[in-house]
Amino acid sequence: MTQNVLILPGDGIGPEIVTEAVKVLETAKQKFNLDIELDNALVGGSAYDEFGTPLPEVTMQKAEKADAILLGAVGGPKWDELEDRDLRPEKGLLGLRSGLELFGNLRPAILYPQLADASSLKPEVVSGLDILIVRELTGGIYFGKPRGIRTIEGGPKDGEREGYNTYVYSESEIRRIAKVAFESAQKRGKKLCSVDKANVLEVTVLWREIMNEVAKDYPDVELSHMYVDNAAMQLVRAPKQFDVMVTGNMFGDILSDAAAMLTGSIGMLPSASLDKNNKGMYEPCHGSAPDIAGQGIANPLATILSAAMMLRYSLNESAAADAIEKAVSDVLDQGLRTADIYSDGMSKVSTAEMGAAVVAALENLSA
Ligand code: NAD
Repeated sequence: MTQNVLILPGDGIGPEIVTEAVKVLETAKQKFNLDIELDNALVGGSAYDEFGTPLPEVTMQKAEKADAILLGAVGGPKWDELEDRDLRPEKGLLGLRSGLELFGNLRPAILYPQLADASSLKPEVVSGLDILIVRELTGGIYFGKPRGIRTIEGGPKDGEREGYNTYVYSESEIRRIAKVAFESAQKRGKKLCSVDKANVLEVTVLWREIMNEVAKDYPDVELSHMYVDNAAMQLVRAPKQFDVMVTGNMFGDILSDAAAMLTGSIGMLPSASLDKNNKGMYEPCHGSAPDIAGQGIANPLATILSAAMMLRYSLNESAAADAIEKAVSDVLDQGLRTADIYSDGMSKVSTAEMGAAVVAALENLSA
């Protein structure tokens, strides 16, 4: 059955990098006989300019119908002045995430050995790093109620203000993110580390309990548990000990950014946000980079690697995904670098040249 992919170029460097990812997808389609069809729509600032809203109805309808979505990035100074916050480009993204119930955020941190010098850690500690952080995206303390700032009445703090939030996860919320994490581990090294703070927080006592329960359905995956403070330490001490890590919204927010920085190159990092049926939206971790938009120098590899993730996780075409990832590694072996990952002795290339090199490397791989 034909699978539909919606392409959302977005703003800034979005259209430049997505153009290259689409060329790579078209090449994979030919080479692996993929039954996929691509469609396009506007989101973010470009949608606001055309339709007066960052998430037009037509875009939402196409997104609901699609099996997977590939997004560039949204936002830019042109729209920062909009008084009505609901019209800002980021609202288009948030609307897609909540409207499609994309609760499972997958953020790989991969450091190609060819780029090991870009990390702030010693090359031997980090070279060849390949971990995946699975973060719960729509629950936990970021969304829990009640929340707010109130004035204390009575007692020794009478009249003082206090801020409060609620850290809450239901069993079903934990179970569905556990499923995403175990299935991701099955597609990789079959090791899953669940990160919590079960020595202090009841929410995460329940989190740990449900993780152990779900583990029984995945006997081929080795589950371990780690407190979040230790996980943060281990990530910078010996990150290669991990395969897949799963955690709640807030811990995941912090750990995935730390893991991303281990690689030292934001232009290389893809991400996915999945719903309960593995339908997903795929996008680079970086933003729309308005400072270099229109210059043809942006790194398209994070978006190309996002397309590979899309083939693996939503479209079940892992051979094509593997091939794209191999092609990216091959162009790095050839010494090709966009400006953001350039170092002495390498060949500096433009966005389009990098895209063309990945296409050529993909064509040259034996299927
Ligand atoms: P950014 O990620 O866009 O840029 C940070 C720095 O990294 C800039 O110097 C930029 O030139 C560089 N950079 C980013 N991607 C690159 C690439 N592919 N190749 C080469 N260099 C790259 O973050 P920012 O500057 O904080 O935000 C710019 C805009 O992007 C803002 O409007 C922000 O709201 C938006 N944003 C969007 C998303 C998204 O769409 N998911 C995420 C983050 C920020």
